[in-house]
Amino acid sequence: MTSRIFNFAAGPAVLPEAVLEEAQRDLLALPGVGMSILEISHRSKAFDEIIQGCEADMRRLANIPSNYQVLFLQGGASLQFSMVPMNILPVGGKADYILTGSWSKKAVKEAQKVGTVQIAGSTESENFSRIPEASEIRIDPDSAYLHFTTNNTIFGTEWEKEPESAGLPLVADASSDIFSRPIDVSRYALIYAGAQKNLAPAGATVVIIRDDMLARSPKGLPTMLDYNTHAKERSLYNTPPVFTIYVMRLVMKWLLGEGGLEGIGRRNAEKAGLLYDAMDGSGGFFRPHARPGSRSKMNVTFRLPSEDLEKRFVAEATAQGLDGLKGHRSVGGIRASIYNAFPVVGVNVLVSFMREFQKKNG
Ligand SMILES: *Cc1c(COP(=O)(O)O)cnc(C)c1O
Repeated sequence: MTSRIFNFAAGPAVLPEAVLEEAQRDLLALPGVGMSILEISHRSKAFDEIIQGCEADMRRLANIPSNYQVLFLQGGASLQFSMVPMNILPVGGKADYILTGSWSKKAVKEAQKVGTVQIAGSTESENFSRIPEASEIRIDPDSAYLHFTTNNTIFGTEWEKEPESAGLPLVADASSDIFSRPIDVSRYALIYAGAQKNLAPAGATVVIIRDDMLARSPKGLPTMLDYNTHAKERSLYNTPPVFTIYVMRLVMKWLLGEGGLEGIGRRNAEKAGLLYDAMDGSGGFFRPHARPGSRSKMNVTFRLPSEDLEKRFVAEATAQGLDGLKGHRSVGGIRASIYNAFPVVGVNVLVSFMREFQKKNG
């Protein structure tokens, strides 16, 4: 078997090794089924157990109340930028959005096609290097909902806790930090997340939606874009992404075995702490993009003294089996994505590499 390197990619991203091994072991034939997960009908009993099991484990993991539906959709988080306003923003109505990065911007752009978007807060003038303070957020009580991005994958900032929504239904794009720490689902009206960062391989989007939101969808929406279609048919109106849901099911089991969201949350805090401590102790050689209080535990973004050094850093790291560290062009520098499945040992290897690199180049 070829050996695995450390994968710091932002998404699709690293998966737990135990999950990959189980998927590999059962790839030719699911136990008791005799066919591959890649071949079976989405209407089969075997798949029904997988999708129901995935949902049940997710409900247990995140303590999802019974008045919420869990949907497995396609089209990525990007389609949710449209589906959210199409379903829960009345035509001609308004919604509040907090602007904290590239993904929130894209969400705003799609919502503007349905109604009026009010920017309830933004840190764009500071290149999204922090999350807005509570005092900087202005909420319109007549808005249909408040939308925010829980973790800003590109800029490396994350909300420590959800914003106060002043009674508005709270809608979150949680694509890059879903189930990375405990979450109180009952504070949200709708949570959505593309699978390929913290849940599974690419191909599915999870939507957790409170029942009362389902009543908002206007008549005449295209069938596939109406949440009610998928809620009624338990995500089996059409062929769902069978393999992605299968792997997600394994990831849910893995998370439960890792101590649930408390357990994984502690480990994520430890991993991110190792990196931020190393940077804070580097005398300014490594400079985090995110300001203290807004630092992401999933995507750690930082700069070096020059672009030339950053290029060398990435090249030398890659040569040593630390892959995917090049930052997004809108921030530059380095981005280390350390999602749930990223091992602590890989963070320690990166920290040692950083110390060595500074010794040689600092
Ligand atoms: C990756 C990402 C998206 C886009 O997800 P797709 O599934 O590719 O559409 C949206 N929002 C956030 C926060 C992301 O990290």
